[in-house]
Amino acid sequence: MMRAWSATATVSNTEEEISAIQPPRIMLYSVPLVTTWVFDDTHRILFDAGDGVTAMLDARIHRIRLVALTHAHRDHCAGLLQLLNLTGGSGEQSVVYPAGSGALKALSGFLCSFDARTTGKTTWVPMDADIVHPIEPARHYVRSFPTQHYEPTTPPRTMSLGYQIVRSVDKLRPELVGLPREEVDRIRLRDGRQAITQTVEDILLSVTGDTIPIDPALVRGSRALLHECTFLEEEETRDMVNRGHPHSSLEDALLTAREAEVEHLGLYHISRRYEDGRILSTVRDSCARLRIPCRVSVALPGRLYDDLFSHTIWEGTDEP
Ligand SMILES: [Zn+2]
Ligand SMILES: [Zn+2]
Repeated sequence: MMRAWSATATVSNTEEEISAIQPPRIMLYSVPLVTTWVFDDTHRILFDAGDGVTAMLDARIHRIRLVALTHAHRDHCAGLLQLLNLTGGSGEQSVVYPAGSGALKALSGFLCSFDARTTGKTTWVPMDADIVHPIEPARHYVRSFPTQHYEPTTPPRTMSLGYQIVRSVDKLRPELVGLPREEVDRIRLRDGRQAITQTVEDILLSVTGDTIPIDPALVRGSRALLHECTFLEEEETRDMVNRGHPHSSLEDALLTAREAEVEHLGLYHISRRYEDGRILSTVRDSCARLRIPCRVSVALPGRLYDDLFSHTIWEGTDEP
């Protein structure tokens, strides 16, 4: 039986909390080497800004309130000039990026001086791993996590990052679960709200960007995970890693999602060397072989998605 997108038991469900229990609406387009961008329309965050993002998102670019860049490869950032030229004028646009990327520092310098009235009004925020950046609504934030898409440097520099969208939620303390409501109310009136609740993190979405397989602990419990999946076969993945192209394979992404106990996995950044039919059948076969318990969606290369998680090609299995 599939695992459904589960509601977190919260003390009081505000409207925002209820909307957060659905998978975010993900619009995306990806052809590795050419362009990749991922727009979370629910949280209004653009992850990477490859060539063509403005043309394809059209008027929707004005919904973007934060651009989160995973790394400096051209296919992930070449669309920034046009995007910020059109949306930067409000002065409300921010870009977070890996702090150790010299190329992105140079790009920010160029864009800041390109046009003072538009691109120059953007706020650039360098990030290392495990840094939080607050977003609306209240108690929501973006957090960076480490990825590995470049040869390690000495001293170490943050060249690439993944990002996740997190909300803080007040949950009933575990020792009070099951008590009659009047009893919980009595404790709250006597000792205050903090006596009955504890604050926990609810990770709504994690996006890896380009990377070799990440430590599943970094994304554990994430409701949705968008994992790069450049190659279908293990052998060609290792071969490309040895030739200086550090990416993940299908099996890497599936095992990470299984280990991290995510509810919905989205595979993206799939090489255009494969035909669509082969991608879909290989993903289904691998999900069955590895007994993948979560739902799986696939972003075929060169196809524009309006709501990726509404297309599910594997429903998950509980079979051991
Ligand atoms: Zn890429
Ligand atoms: Zn890359």
